[in-house]
Amino acid sequence: MSQKMLKFVSLEKQMPTKRNASARREDFNEIYEEFAPDKAVEQASRCSQCGIPFCQVHCPVQNNIPDWLNLTANGRLEEAYELSQSTNSLPEICGRICPQDRLCEGSCVIEKGFQSVTIGAVEKYITDTAWEKGWVKPNAPSHELNQSVAIIGAGPGGMAAADQLRKKGYQVHVYDRYDRVGGLLVYGIPGFKLEKEVVERRAKLLADGGVTFHLNFEIGKDATLEELRAKHEAVVVATGVYKARDISLPGSGQKGIVPALDYLTASNRKGLGDTVPAFESGELNAEGKNVVVIGGGDTAMDCVRTAIRQGAKSVKCLYRRDRKNMPGSLRETTNAEEEGVEFIWLSAPKAFHGDGEVTAVRAIEMHLGIADSTGRQVPVELEGSEFDIECDLAIKALGFDPEDIPTLFDQPELKVSRWGTIEADPLSKMTNLDGVFAIGDIVRGASLVVWAIRDGRDAAASIHQYLQKAAKLAQAS
Ligand code: FAD
Ligand code: SF4
Ligand code: SF4
Repeated sequence: MSQKMLKFVSLEKQMPTKRNASARREDFNEIYEEFAPDKAVEQASRCSQCGIPFCQVHCPVQNNIPDWLNLTANGRLEEAYELSQSTNSLPEICGRICPQDRLCEGSCVIEKGFQSVTIGAVEKYITDTAWEKGWVKPNAPSHELNQSVAIIGAGPGGMAAADQLRKKGYQVHVYDRYDRVGGLLVYGIPGFKLEKEVVERRAKLLADGGVTFHLNFEIGKDATLEELRAKHEAVVVATGVYKARDISLPGSGQKGIVPALDYLTASNRKGLGDTVPAFESGELNAEGKNVVVIGGGDTAMDCVRTAIRQGAKSVKCLYRRDRKNMPGSLRETTNAEEEGVEFIWLSAPKAFHGDGEVTAVRAIEMHLGIADSTGRQVPVELEGSEFDIECDLAIKALGFDPEDIPTLFDQPELKVSRWGTIEADPLSKMTNLDGVFAIGDIVRGASLVVWAIRDGRDAAASIHQYLQKAAKLAQAS
């Protein structure tokens, strides 16, 4: 092992510089600056090179973290990049937006006494440097295969599958109903977590490597699944989950009560320079408003922080559990608090006041009762504790369910779970339809970018086996 490692005893954990909150409130740029080269080397050298690296075990793509930290600490950055990209199709994106506190860094063994190695920030640094130095090159398969694969959905799952299949030489066609590549990376996640250029350059890299994108092309409208199956040797469904969960409360139908993804998409589109009538009219714009966001997940955090940047008068987040029990990343909650968001913990909405346009949310205090079968304490209303919060934009961030894919795709035989997610074999990712695979959120339910990437990689490996077998059978007959 290099002498440079094991520095965690003498060197403190340091994240890249975080811009101060008042500057952050003014724009949609990412909030962390890049590590200076000497800082990245220093922070990578804190790793203790564990024999059993729990960081790697708890990374969904099983990144070889100790080795690329060692290479970084020793200034061998190009090799670090080669190693890091061998397990992850979108490493600089994961370095930015993985909830590292729940994954790799949360499992780092030096976490206990010394604070974890800054794995995500180093991963981002390695790949951003690789882009800057021109080490990131489009896929150049050693030989072209004439079999083609259709991928429905250009989100991270679809992008990862496309990357891996193209590397093997397949003709890859990605179909997406949106006008840009990236799925939620572009239209869900705001720029202050992930700047859009980072996604755009990945999309261009895939296209330069020979992946064909068919944008503004919706399966179920512009073609059926059956038509794609007839045209391509295999199909991957990577359509994500988009049906917003709703609450039915008195006053729900009024103006000014909007679903989170509509709100975030309008903001992202505006940032990309699109014309967005619902933003311009004020319907999906928080400027000058008292905003209440309902929910405690990552989507809610993105909404509150977007509202701050749009110049809202006040921004409150209403969540029925407490800080310790919220599903969103604690790091994002802290960022939101620094930027001026007020959290109203242990409170749930009861009704919306207003005369056609919302003016207030009626809420009630909750306490955490006994645990349910999942071990989570169930929130219970505190009788007589209702209170009103002034509000002229209420944003519902209550999670997402899958659309009815068998009906949309005109393929009633496609097997789905009782939640509507597509059932796919956990190893091969194949559905009950021969040659049709499924990955990402549409299988897992709302999940994480890094899991969609892992699924994309696994599906590509399994499709390769499937198509090789098909080619051998064709040759034999
Ligand atoms: P998606 O990214 O949803 O992509 C699906 C694509 O399929 C879309 O482009 C869609 O247009 C296309 N599509 C759908 N139906 C059709 C059709 N019929 N025909 C053609 N195309 C179709 N995860 C993290 O790891 N970190 C975060 O910080 C984070 N923040 C998030 C913030 C928000 C607001 C949201 C909503 C999610 C966040 N997530 C985060 C979750 C993450 O974005 C998803 O888990 C991930 O994008 C899933 O990838 P996917 O490829 O399965 O689907
Ligand atoms: Fe950590 Fe995500 Fe990178 Fe894995 S992909 S090392 S979980 S930041
Ligand atoms: Fe290094 Fe932490 Fe991973 Fe151990 S768990 S190899 S210290 S990053």
